[in-house]
This record gives sequence, structure tokens and C-alpha cells, in this order.
Amino acid sequence: MTKLPSLARARWLNEPSLQRAFAVVAEADGEARVAGGAVRNALLKIPVGDIDLATTLDPQKIVDIFKAAGYGVHPLGIEHGTVMVVISHRTYEITTLRRDVETDGRRAVVSFTENWAEDARRRDFTMNALYCDARGKIHDYANGYKDILSNRITFVGNPAARIKEDYLRILRYFRFLSVFENMKADAASLAACVRLKKGLLTLSAERISQEMFKLLVGPKAVAILKLMAKHGVLKNIIAHTDEFRTLERLPGDPLLRAFVLAEKPHMLRDAWRLSNAQARRIEFLMDGPSLNPKLRENEQRRILYTVGEQAWRDGVALNWARSRASLQDSAWKRMPSLPNRWPAPKFPLNGRDLLAAGFSSGPDVGQELKRLEDFWIAADFKPTKDELLGKAKHD
Ligand code: ATP
Ligand code: MG
Repeated sequence: MTKLPSLARARWLNEPSLQRAFAVVAEADGEARVAGGAVRNALLKIPVGDIDLATTLDPQKIVDIFKAAGYGVHPLGIEHGTVMVVISHRTYEITTLRRDVETDGRRAVVSFTENWAEDARRRDFTMNALYCDARGKIHDYANGYKDILSNRITFVGNPAARIKEDYLRILRYFRFLSVFENMKADAASLAACVRLKKGLLTLSAERISQEMFKLLVGPKAVAILKLMAKHGVLKNIIAHTDEFRTLERLPGDPLLRAFVLAEKPHMLRDAWRLSNAQARRIEFLMDGPSLNPKLRENEQRRILYTVGEQAWRDGVALNWARSRASLQDSAWKRMPSLPNRWPAPKFPLNGRDLLAAGFSSGPDVGQELKRLEDFWIAADFKPTKDELLGKAKHD
């Protein structure tokens, strides 16, 4: 058996607030361990993000003891065993050890247990079924560490059986392949994912989009999307284009990638639950002007002023990626940084100025203001406030 390393000296593990969480549970005769992604990342020697804890105590007990200890408690996920606690502004999700009693491919009915190995068996991949206790000792019930050392993403148990319990695991398999650069697909797991790909059609938009956004930022995202497309998996997630050359040439931004990937980008808003800000970026990309370095600088400034910085950068990235130009092209390279060289000026006139100049208030003021702004933009933002007032038309 592979000797397990100790995480006793890991900074994140020795964080006082996390050690408090361990202690509160221990004082109530239970045990808590860090589980899942944090342990996996620590062993892969990459930054640890969210810290999730697993515990032998039942959820109501967790609520009670953390409240009694004076900490913030949010029992949002309590019916499936998860309680969120806040200690010195740090948030931990504490989930009671579980076993799946019933699954239908989308959600599970769970029951609680005090058995760590049982909890490990319902996790998706061996590398995600690792636990680390308060003192940094690793507990490995599914041979996850061996798989981490050999860069293998392996299902806990039989791949097909585990996928049929929850089809999201297909997408998670590809997500982890995309995110972890050195991880390789093994033939049996890949074959099971491909064979059962229809199950993806039954999943909620919420769950799909969460995983897809994580997949899309991965260093291997484009290669994995290609692999998924080749095996007919991707079309069960989204009606997609074959613009892989463009995808390869885009910067790593997940929303740009989603835009190019989607055959009907306007569907992304609902399908992938975009925020308003994200939906606005998609809209600009759909009907944004065609940008290229042959546009004169003043024309470029005019567009930048009109659409704003984010849409400018998005538009440049998209047009460049779709063009024949090299990614080293120096004329193109200058374009994304236009907002740095030229911070957009502020229109020097407002409604009050027009009223002071004798306009009577009403819709005409707004119209005149718009006309003067257009004139100011067309004159490359040069006219001063007085010059603009001189141009103002009284009726
Ligand atoms: P990340 O670093 O992206 O958060 P993660 O491994 O923590 O990765 P989460 O989605 O946060 O992923 O899930 C936390 C843990 O819960 C996983 O490590 C895994 O053990 C378990 N898990 C999550 N989703 C599933 C699933 N669909 N089936 C089985 N186990 C799952
Ligand atoms: Mg996580």
C-alpha cells in the first residue's frame, strides 16, 4: 500500500478558525474531517479553495453546538445534511456522513451514518473521497492517493453503476480532466461516460451550468470540449458549434468560450442561468461591431466610448480569435489595451447646463443633449463645454 503523506504542517489546516471547528465537534464527542476537493488539492500541491467538512454528528446536533459556541449558523442545506457555519468570517460547510439509499440519476435520498468508509463510497471519484483529520492525518478508503500519484481520475466503484445513480458525474469527469492538466482519461471510465451520455439530458440547467463554467476555465478546456464533441457527449449538454480554432485562440474567459461554443448564444441566459452582467456581455457580443486594427484610432475610440470597456475587450478578443491574424500580431496586440492608453472622457455637458443656458425643461433637453453628445463623439471628443453650448439649438 502507498504510504500516505501527512498534512500536519499545511497552513490552511492550521488556520485557528478551522481548528476551532474541529474542536467544537470533538467537545461534543463527534469527529470532523476535511473532505473532498480541499484534501485532493492539497495532495496535488495546488491551492486549496473552499474547505468542506464531513462529520459523524447529525445535522441538528451541528446546528445546536455551533450556536451554543456563539458562531453564525445557516442551516440552508440541512435536509440533505449540510450546515454552514461561520467562524471569524470564515465559512465552512459541515455535512453529516451519508449513504445513498435511493437514486434516480438526478438526485438521491440519503440517510446519515457514522461510518467514514460508507460516506467515501457514495463520492464520485477516488481522488474526491479523501479525508484529513484535525492533525493532518489522511484517511483514504478508496485508494484515492494512489490515483492522484498516477494522475488517474477513477470512479469509486463501477463507473457505469455510479453514473446511473447521478448522470452529472459524466460531466464532472470531463470537468476534472479539463481542470487538472496532468490527469488522463482512462479507457473504461471514458467508455462508460460515452455509453451513458443520454442521461445528461435529464439534468437541471442549474447543475449543468455550474459544472460547465468550471470546465470552461480549465487549462485543457478546449481539448476536452473537442473530446466531448467527438464522442457525441457535448451535444447532450448544449447545441454547439465546431468553432474549435476560435476557441483555442480565445483568452481563458469562460463566458467568451461559452459564447463561441453555443450555436444559439441568446439561449445561454436561461439555459446556463447567466447573471444580468453576463447576459449583457453576451448581447454585446451578438450584435457588436466588427473590430480590427485597420479601424482608425478615432473610430476605435468612438466604439470604445459607446460600448464601454468590457464589451470592447470582449469584442476585440472575439474578432481577433476569428480572424486570420497571428496571435503575435502587433497591430492586434495594441487593441485590447486601448482603454489603458485612452481612459474614456466624460461628456462635459449635462441637463442643468442646458437649462442654465435658457432651455425650458422637458423631453427636448434630453434630445438636445443626445444630439450634442453625438456631435462631440464625431468630433473625437475635442469640443469643450463652451463650444458645445455654442452649438446648442434653441427652438
Ligand atoms: P471544487 O474544487 O471545484 O469545489 P470539489 O471536489 O470540492 O471541487 P464540489 O462540487 O464542491 O467539488 O463537491 C464536493 C465533494 O462532494 C466532491 O469532492 C465529492 O466528494 C462530492 N461530490 C460532489 N458532487 C458529487 C456527485 N455528483 N456525486 C458524488 N459525489 C459528489
Ligand atoms: Mg468544493
